[in-house]
Amino acid sequence: MNSKYRLRIAGKQSRREFLLNSSLGIAGVVAGATMPGMATPTARAAEREKTLGFALCGLGSLSTNQIAPALQKTRNCRLAGIITGTPAKAEKWKAQYNIPEKNIYNYETMHRLADNPDIDVVYVVTPNALHAEHTLKAARAGKHVLSEKPMEVSVQKCQLMIDACKEAGRKLAVGYRCQFEPHHLECMRLAREKVFGDVKIIEAGFGFRIGDPTQWRLKHGLAGGGALMDVGIYALQATRYLTGEEPISVSAMETKTDPVKFKEVDESIVWQLKFPGGILASCSTTYLVNGINRYTAYAEKGWFGLDPAYSYSGIRGRRSDGKEISAEEIDQFAAEMDNFAHCILTNTASKVSGEEGLRDIRILMAVYESIKTGQPVKLA
Ligand code: NAD
Repeated sequence: MNSKYRLRIAGKQSRREFLLNSSLGIAGVVAGATMPGMATPTARAAEREKTLGFALCGLGSLSTNQIAPALQKTRNCRLAGIITGTPAKAEKWKAQYNIPEKNIYNYETMHRLADNPDIDVVYVVTPNALHAEHTLKAARAGKHVLSEKPMEVSVQKCQLMIDACKEAGRKLAVGYRCQFEPHHLECMRLAREKVFGDVKIIEAGFGFRIGDPTQWRLKHGLAGGGALMDVGIYALQATRYLTGEEPISVSAMETKTDPVKFKEVDESIVWQLKFPGGILASCSTTYLVNGINRYTAYAEKGWFGLDPAYSYSGIRGRRSDGKEISAEEIDQFAAEMDNFAHCILTNTASKVSGEEGLRDIRILMAVYESIKTGQPVKLA
């Protein structure tokens, strides 16, 4: 077991344990007492023994460099199978991770997952506009689904994913790794506990300079959009989990300085959100320049934030009182997958559910609508 994920279930929790346990959705087992609705220590001990078999669907960069290595560090998950359209990758992964032939599938044979009890969860890591197709196949084969972000490229396709998993009686979650990351959890705590008073204004942005002009991220049919869908979504997520509210209106503006490279998708967008309690957020995203990777929440008596905020490691936090937001560096993907396994094993709701993924897509679509109409868009 990875010590980073070892849980203490009795006695006083350290701040680090509190953060880790919050990230796992385990908040209330202290000094032998069990909070209402929480699993008993015996149930928790039983959960620690179990692992769920994950099959990775799509063996591109993220699966290869982040998810497969992260699976080796999880407490309740194991890499049990793969789904790939490339036979050469299947051979390589089979040898590297000792995956039995019977647990190797392609996109056309996914329905056969139904006969494979080794695999409990399909982690969909294909281009954005294929998430629904692969989620539906996995759910219909009786598997739980973890889909990468953005959940899909339209509200309708997100709803299809939710419905298919509901119909199959399986869980659906979205790969929002930051929601399990201790620096982000600490910022959520600072906002919710009003440590600097009420948050009034949030600035958030994420962007990078994209390379290869032929990649799927620049094709509307596969990506559904550009920087906004790919990385702007992190800034949007941050405004929602810092406020704990849903925005009531959005207005946005786009610029395209390279209309050849960005013929099909957005290049740079700034947008503003208004929340029901009066908080305003100003967000930005781009595929044109490196260095935008941050958020700051400005409150009545000070400010706090992260920069870099959304990287896989090296996240740094600062507060206006000079204290650093120091927190344990964890493998965010391992924490995210262990949390999903915990939700499945204890039949509890995921905080990064399909419904949560759909909320973001609805707002991103409103950003595009505001750009198109030049008007603010009201969100119900
Ligand atoms: P990638 O291009 O490296 O990999 C995509 C994989 O999908 C490849 O193995 C490719 O062969 C496969 N694929 C199947 N059908 C395809 C088709 N018709 N066209 C193109 N490829 C096809 O991409 P990636 O960076 O691994 O991203 C995959 C998903 O993960 C995306 O949804 C992306 O947004 C998400 N992602 C999330 C994070 C995160 O931090 N959570 C980071 C990177 C990517």
